[in-house]
Amino acid sequence: MLSAGEAEVVTRVCELLVPGSAAVRPDRYLAATLPALRPAEEDVVRAAIGVMAGVTDESALTRLSGSAAFDRFRRLAIEAFYGDFAPPGHTGPTGHDVIDFRPPQAVRLRKDWSFLGHPESAPGPWDRFPPGPDEAEVIVVGSGAGGGVVAALLAERGVDVLLLEAGGFEPAAAHTRFELEARHRLWWPARLVSTSDDQPIALLAGRCVGGSTVINTKVAMRAPELDLGPWYDLIEARLGVRERTDWTPSVHRVEKGFAALGASLRPVRSYTDHNCSRCGSCLQGCPTNAGKSTLNTFLMPALATGNLRIRTRHSVSHVLVENDRTTGVACGQTSLRAPTVVLAAGAINTPQILLRTCEIAEIDTSSSRAVGRTLGLHPARLVYGRFPEPQDCHQVYPITAHHVRDDFVVEATTIQDPVSFAESLVDAEHRPLWGKRLADVVRGYRYWAGLLVMATDENTATIELGIDDVVISKRFSETERRRLDDALAFGIDVLRAAGAQDVVWTGLSTTHMQGSAPMGTAVDEHGRSPDIEGLYVADSSLIPTSLSVNPSLTVMALAAKVAGEIGL
Ligand SMILES: Cc1cc2nc3c(=O)[nH]c(=O)nc-3n(C[C@H](O)[C@H](O)[C@H](O)COP(=O)(O)OP(=O)(O)OC[C@H]3O[C@@H](n4cnc5c(N)ncnc54)[C@H](O)[C@@H]3O)c2cc1C
Repeated sequence: MLSAGEAEVVTRVCELLVPGSAAVRPDRYLAATLPALRPAEEDVVRAAIGVMAGVTDESALTRLSGSAAFDRFRRLAIEAFYGDFAPPGHTGPTGHDVIDFRPPQAVRLRKDWSFLGHPESAPGPWDRFPPGPDEAEVIVVGSGAGGGVVAALLAERGVDVLLLEAGGFEPAAAHTRFELEARHRLWWPARLVSTSDDQPIALLAGRCVGGSTVINTKVAMRAPELDLGPWYDLIEARLGVRERTDWTPSVHRVEKGFAALGASLRPVRSYTDHNCSRCGSCLQGCPTNAGKSTLNTFLMPALATGNLRIRTRHSVSHVLVENDRTTGVACGQTSLRAPTVVLAAGAINTPQILLRTCEIAEIDTSSSRAVGRTLGLHPARLVYGRFPEPQDCHQVYPITAHHVRDDFVVEATTIQDPVSFAESLVDAEHRPLWGKRLADVVRGYRYWAGLLVMATDENTATIELGIDDVVISKRFSETERRRLDDALAFGIDVLRAAGAQDVVWTGLSTTHMQGSAPMGTAVDEHGRSPDIEGLYVADSSLIPTSLSVNPSLTVMALAAKVAGEIGL
């Protein structure tokens, strides 16, 4: 519960941050989230309210810009308003009415806000796997692009596999276009990388069975620099990769800008089948299974073999090691046993598990020291142009076209759903957008067409274990900085040349983390640990040097290769 005084501060400050938001009662939105918070987190919320208590106008708020309290309040106002919150009895327009966000699925949806009060670890309605025995022939940790493939291929070979996944089981039937609930159920909470340029990079990834493949946009690219031909063939055949030539008017609109600059836009290949209704829900989970996640393509058939067991909401902390060989994994207080363990918890979590394991087992070798030293991020931002006619980029398959260069890649056309769109916008000095300018931009939601610009990077980020938490940091090289600036400038020029009347862009984020336990240094070229017998890595951590293209097809191909190496 918030006191009347606290509620008044919240409502007043949210209205300054997002004009119009007071009407949907952000104080009641905040109150609904309190039951899910630990006492220390609730203290932070109340301290932020204390910091904001004296703020009555924009100039007082400007002085707090950049503070943790400011960021927290900005997020709160955006979530409540652009997330379409409406407290019981609310009669006026909601945030979605104001910006005219009405994709067909969202119109049908009856929003149940009770998830706000549930801790992220609470089981969902579909988490109903029988636990089974605590041991297996192979334990796979993580069920995304890497783990989903390796677990399924092994189970199909007759191996007894136990798959452990930190998130829940969320099949297509559970996917509705309810942005905030999807973030709660399918996504890792946003994690930030601090950078030498003071421009944080948000790390975006899935946390559910199927991992990031459940929420990704399914662009399917082979990496020319890796020799994975037969494994690419296998994965592409299974996923049904096809070319997307079904460009919508927004793509044809921006294509004029590319042409004016002498650049070309080409159709992407993607793992989406012909049931794709171009509804734009990819990041909230595909409701029709047209998007081929490892859940619907690999794991569901493998479950039918009877050789695969899945335990959801099981977060592995470290690998158990006896006499230099693995005997299983630790999940909280539980030990699960197997002579072979495959780590596929993604490029941010796999190195943490490895670092913890080496610390506990007192392993200090050149390969253990290579873990977490060469994280690649493929940093990206969205650049949006506002056109005179509606673009409705929230109702298209988000990426049907791209322009690929050595230094950066541009994908078209897309827009995030309203909360993520508003949250990620920055001003010309890269500070979060707020106030009247933010409200004006988001009010024109349907008129913005977005380009995703991703700069090739040089594996200059690191992951270390801190005292309480992991520390992820990045020092940009001059080349990386120049590529990012060039990519942004190119995106702006394309949109202007296509006739955009206004241009805005977001802060940096990445969905392509990779290279944190690379083949050749941290593990061998078969994904095998040189330090711990029976331990393998089979996810994006393996990629030796940051790819200039979208990585998921390569991650799946590498995982298929590792599965083939595991001889039992
Ligand atoms: C929004 C978005 C859009 C993207 N679009 C594309 C695209 O169009 N094309 C493309 O090629 N790539 C895309 N990607 C990237 C691609 O999805 C990833 O590169 C790929 O999924 C990485 O595979 P992975 O197995 O390393 O990790 P993930 O697929 O992220 O899987 C890791 C899994 O491990 C689980 N896990 C983590 N820690 C633990 C633990 N301690 N214990 C148990 N389980 C754990 C996680 O919950 C997760 O399910 C996108 C990603 C995102 C987030």
